[in-house]
Amino acid sequence: MKKYLAGLCAGFTLLLSLVALPAAAAGYTQTRYPIVLAHGLFGFDTLAGVPYFYQIPDALSRDGAKVYVTKVSAENSSVVRGEQLLTQVKNILAVTGAKKVNLIGHSQGGLDIRYVAAVRPDLVASVTTVGTPHKGSKFADALRGKLAPGSLTEAVLASVAQGFGSLINILSGGGTNPQNAIAALDALTSAGTASFNSKYPAGLPTSSCGSGAASANGVAFYSWGGTGLLTNVLDLTDPALGLTGLAFGFEANDGLVGRCSNHFGKIIADNYFQNHLDEVNQTFGLVSLFTSNPVTLFREQANRLKNAGF
Ligand code: CA
Repeated sequence: MKKYLAGLCAGFTLLLSLVALPAAAAGYTQTRYPIVLAHGLFGFDTLAGVPYFYQIPDALSRDGAKVYVTKVSAENSSVVRGEQLLTQVKNILAVTGAKKVNLIGHSQGGLDIRYVAAVRPDLVASVTTVGTPHKGSKFADALRGKLAPGSLTEAVLASVAQGFGSLINILSGGGTNPQNAIAALDALTSAGTASFNSKYPAGLPTSSCGSGAASANGVAFYSWGGTGLLTNVLDLTDPALGLTGLAFGFEANDGLVGRCSNHFGKIIADNYFQNHLDEVNQTFGLVSLFTSNPVTLFREQANRLKNAGF
């Protein structure tokens, strides 16, 4: 029995590694402009050595892309985070000598990169959002709804979340970016995103669940997202996302973002069998084995950008 289990584990590990490592093809991801990856809420570039975009930067750079992983406050508004990101984009342009960048953002990172493209479209070739709550997150609404402004609950949540954000910042080697948990939560509610969208509307769908403009101000717009919840029995984070997904009722969602809310620009797909963490190949590559692998999706997008001349 022990031998059988060991064999099963070895086979499973082999299968995982085969899925996680798509065949190399020289130049497949060789975009003209650098690819800049932007993390989500509670995000980090690396946390205790584990990258937020798990195995993704390597998979992109292996076949030609120049890839940069950025880091902003784990918890803050998309305008504050967007300004931090813009500074890093300027640094990347200075270091590489490139004229523009391709921005790819996961979750709140998708709002941050929209901000950068809105204020400096001349520096951005494309914006790709992955699992981004463009029209807010019903889970954020549910959480916010329990918090009367100025209440003890709000103060307690703020201090817990603020501590968590600061901890992430310290563990990920940062420590200087300001954290603001309530601003972060407000940035992700329906009301918060509506306010953000009124200032930075480019690429948003005009109907409740349609697609958006494919480009504006010389910047191309793309998006994709997931609607899976329990996708891998070995991933201990799946049950948590299964629970947060209950906030959406019958609406398809990835645990934190509803299907229609992930729509932006040209929609590549809005319903991959991926939960919110699967979208960045977490945790540790534990995703569904039977559908589009997240690493493959990032590689395909790099190839799409390359073919579009970006
Ligand atoms: Ca997972």
